[in-house]
Amino acid sequence: MMNQQRVSGNPIHYSKLLPKFVLNRYYPIAQVNRYLKDVANLHSTRITLFTIGYTHENRPIHAIEILNNPNDPNFFWIDGCTHAREWVTVTTALYIIDQAIYSKIPVNFIIVPVLNVDGYVYTWTKDRMWRKNRRPYIGSRLSRHSMPERCTGVDLNRNYDINFGGTGSSKNPCSFLYQGPQPFSEPEVRAASDLLSNYRHRIKMTLSLHSFNQLWSCPNAFTTELTKDHNHHMNVLRSIQQAVRQQNGLLYDIGPLGSRLYLGSGFMMDWIYHKLGIRDAYLVELRDRGYYGFILPADQIWPTATETWAGIQAAIQHIFL
Ligand SMILES: [Zn+2]
Repeated sequence: MMNQQRVSGNPIHYSKLLPKFVLNRYYPIAQVNRYLKDVANLHSTRITLFTIGYTHENRPIHAIEILNNPNDPNFFWIDGCTHAREWVTVTTALYIIDQAIYSKIPVNFIIVPVLNVDGYVYTWTKDRMWRKNRRPYIGSRLSRHSMPERCTGVDLNRNYDINFGGTGSSKNPCSFLYQGPQPFSEPEVRAASDLLSNYRHRIKMTLSLHSFNQLWSCPNAFTTELTKDHNHHMNVLRSIQQAVRQQNGLLYDIGPLGSRLYLGSGFMMDWIYHKLGIRDAYLVELRDRGYYGFILPADQIWPTATETWAGIQAAIQHIFL
């Protein structure tokens, strides 16, 4: 019965940990949080659910800590849903949690499936294509009413203190690339960056999940100049690329983000690499190449998740084991 049922041609895939939870389905935040709580309750000795901070609208931002190797002080950080409409990053994060716990792969993780909680809620209730957080920066109530709705919010991946305000970001609050008034102005960014800075000596690798474009990338995002770790990054990315391809046959692009996709300033990945000195900071753009884009059909949730986990395992071989 398991994994064999079909609903309109799409086989159902259940969680290995919670047998009634279907992993290849999109879920609103309440169900995402329910999954995290249930998983943490089941495995309370090595799994801890905690709150890294609160959003502008005062929602908790949850992280799950998975201690698969208590003797190792190091952690692998993974974050999803910095950009609200990138729903497949949430389902992929839940799959990674399921696999990391079930497989007992000897690596410790901190995983934040939904960083931009307010934005994610907004994509379920008001606007499926919302990207930014929900903090308004238009001064008075009067002017706010005369501004279009899109003038709310900051692009959380332009708000870090690395080449802040440079190429590929915007000073205009109505832009979907609005960088915010200053670095770390946003509570969601402060929550993530505080944890990362406090534990920077124990975080060996970071991976930010985004969509779409099918690209595994490394620094730099803000310039086409190569970093001193370029050769190492490319070695890691090549082994990831190969493992991903072996899973479902898809060939993802690899390379520094700014050279392969577009330039962007104030990125979390660049800040982690340059300001925290964590060598292995990566960002993946998941499926697809733009045919469906952000509105990825549910039948691609499962292959996206399985190939991403294959890539992560290849990276772990390189960096942790
Ligand atoms: Zn994104």
